[in-house]
This record gives sequence, C-alpha cells and structure tokens, in this order.
Amino acid sequence: MSPESLDAIVTPLAIGVAFLAAIGIVVWVLRRAAIATARHAGAEPWPREWLRLLDRSVPASRGLTTAERVRLLQLSRDLIGRARWEGCRGVVVDETMQLTIAAQACLMSLRIPGEHYENVRDILIYPSTFVPRPACKRLVWMGTKDEQPEADLGQTWADGDMVLSSDSVKAGAAGPRDGQNVVYHEFAHLLADEHDLDPTRATVPQLFGPPIQCQPDVPNPDEWNRVLSESFDRLTKRLAAGEPSVLGDYAATKYAEFIAVAAEIFFEKPRELCAEEPAFYVQLSAFYRQDPAATATEPAPPNRNAAV
Ligand SMILES: [Zn+2]
Repeated sequence: MSPESLDAIVTPLAIGVAFLAAIGIVVWVLRRAAIATARHAGAEPWPREWLRLLDRSVPASRGLTTAERVRLLQLSRDLIGRARWEGCRGVVVDETMQLTIAAQACLMSLRIPGEHYENVRDILIYPSTFVPRPACKRLVWMGTKDEQPEADLGQTWADGDMVLSSDSVKAGAAGPRDGQNVVYHEFAHLLADEHDLDPTRATVPQLFGPPIQCQPDVPNPDEWNRVLSESFDRLTKRLAAGEPSVLGDYAATKYAEFIAVAAEIFFEKPRELCAEEPAFYVQLSAFYRQDPAATATEPAPPNRNAAV
C-alpha cells in the first residue's frame, strides 16, 4: 500500500475519532455543568459525593436520566432534612444510610405530582429485626392481650414515625430485583395514606352519622377501587387454593399490606406482577407514573417473605 493510500484511510479515521472524542468531551462538560447548576439551585446544595453514593448505594437509580437523578437527590436532601433520624441499639445513622433510605423513598414518588412524605417525623433505625412492644405501637396496637408481637423489619405509624432495620435497608437496596424492600414497603404505607389508596382506611369520621369515604387520589378512583378489590380477592383465593403468587402471603392480610407489598413487587419484580395481575399493574403504573416492566431486564430470584 502506498503512503498516499494509507494517508487516505488514516486521515479520515483520525478526524472521525477526534470528532467523536470532542463530542464526548462536550457532553461530559454539559452534564457536569447541569449537575453543578442543579446542585446549587435549591436552598442547600447536596454534597458533590452524593452522586457517587447514590450509584453505589441505590442500584435501582442507575437507570434514571441525569435530570431525574438530580431531582431525586434534591428530594432526598429535603426528606433527610425534614426527618429526625435516630440510631437504636448502637446503630450509627450516617449519610450513606440516610441517602439509601431517602433516595429509595423518593424514587417511588419521583413522578407523582405534588409534595410527599410531608408528615414524616422520627425515623428510628435498629440493627436488624426488632420486636415492637405494645406500648410503643401507640393507638394502632390492636392485638389481643395474649398475642405476642412478632419480629419486624420495619413499621410505620400514621403520625409519621417509622422504624426500620438497618440490615433490611441495606439488603433491600442491594437486591433491586428480589422483590423485598423494606423502604419501598414502609414508604408505600405513607403514600397510601397520603393518597387515600386504601378504601378501608380512607375515611373521615363525622360527629353525627357514618364516616365519609374518601376517594383515592389516582387518575381513575372508581377503577382503582374496583381493581384493588378484585385483585385482593383473587390473591386470597389463589393462596387458599395453594397456588403460588409473586405477592406472597403477607399481602393477603389486609388492603394496606396488599398495597405496600405490591409496591415492592411493582418496582422489583414488575414483569411477574404484570403477568399475574395485569389490571392492578396498570393501576399502580398510573399512580406511580412509572412503567418498570418496560425496562426490567434482570431475571428475578425466587420470592421470599416480604417486609411487614
Ligand atoms: Zn406493612
């Protein structure tokens, strides 16, 4: 090959490589500039290392666009600042733990219009499973005198207090496709309360007469109520017949747990949920304004018991 013909090949190739490299640099600079601008747009910028921390601690966030990750960090920063964090039995609540919890909570509510988790107060974190004492369950303790409370991974009270197990938080974030996520579960209870998703709880007591039933804050309230009821009934019948379900036994205890467990499965095993309960998947997708089944790629491991 003559030097001229070699030149004819190498020169355009070099120009092409240089052109692509230049585009890559421009994109990288613009992306950094967008993130830097967003970091300082709020009242308090989030720390620069949070992007790296988010990638490492919350794998489920890796599929988000840059704008969505920035928005997620802003919301997480607000939630972290709004809650009072307390480690129990020797747990040290560091920034990684706070961001792991807040980012997953805000990942669920990322596309739901309005503010969320406004009434969050104390977030208590235990090392692993904990056994709640009746005295600590306040007014929601409905167990009988002889009933012994079971070990829990997480609990949420209507007044905005939450208890989480540190081990379960870490395991839930590290396994974004295993269908178990105590943070999704507990914050789904809060979202359900905020949006009146559970028709058995969403009532306003009246001084005279029966309580007023609230309409769920979803795109189609009547359809939500109908599909929720039918899906719940199907689950109880399926379990009674000894048939497996991606939702598991705990989801069949009551509507509130059905909705909370469904949030775990919706975000972590969306295709399985879509296959088992397509109509309910559509309702959840309309509420969360997300369609995780469309982007889910990893095969899911066998189901285990969900958080409580
Ligand atoms: Zn629950």
